[in-house]
Amino acid sequence: MKYAIFSDVHANLEALEAVFADMDQQEVDEFVCLGDLVGYGGSPSEVMKLVYERVSLIVAGNHDYAISGKLSLEQFNTYAREAAEWTNEQLTEDQLDDLNTLPLLEMKEEMTFVHSTILAPEKFDYILTAYDAHMNFEEMETKVGFMGHSHIPVNFIYRENLHHNKDDRLDLDSDSRALVNVGSVGQPRDEDPRACYALYDSDEHLVEIRRVDYDIDTAANKIHDAGLPKLLGERLYRGK
Ligand code: ZN
Repeated sequence: MKYAIFSDVHANLEALEAVFADMDQQEVDEFVCLGDLVGYGGSPSEVMKLVYERVSLIVAGNHDYAISGKLSLEQFNTYAREAAEWTNEQLTEDQLDDLNTLPLLEMKEEMTFVHSTILAPEKFDYILTAYDAHMNFEEMETKVGFMGHSHIPVNFIYRENLHHNKDDRLDLDSDSRALVNVGSVGQPRDEDPRACYALYDSDEHLVEIRRVDYDIDTAANKIHDAGLPKLLGERLYRGK
């Protein structure tokens, strides 16, 4: 089976459409969304419609919960809070309910899917260091785990020892386990402005990180036209 796994769309419709177009060239069997569908971007309702149309396996991000009132906005910076309040007004009751009832973690075959951490998904902490990864490997029941949240793609691999790399291909042998951050579709932060997602071939145990160009101008203009903080549009060009 070939899975396309993506995260952190953040209401960026142009990036999402470009990513789906690329996925449609890759003979994908199933789509998985790791949360933060909305927040920051200018097309929350359209993004939710498209994701729910095409994806059956979706887990919750902190923005999804905050916008639907399940999580306090107190942890958010000014920009995120302003965008969250605006986004809440754009969505229908049904859409808010969909976000509110998303699960925090799902497992399928040899894979775990989560937005933040396997250790305590409800806390929305990050897996950034070798120590974080080690704690999460101890908790993970599957061969491979996929997460988002930091908007920065990275692979942690456990095979006798723990190491990490930023390779865009990861070939897992029978003794290896991995935690893979799939990056962000709609607001990359690794200084590469292209949309990012992962493919996983569960027969070959092969991870591929893909980058896709999209129409940043249109996405940034929508943020501007919505009256959202200027910085949220500007950062799309920098990928930061
Ligand atoms: Zn995010």
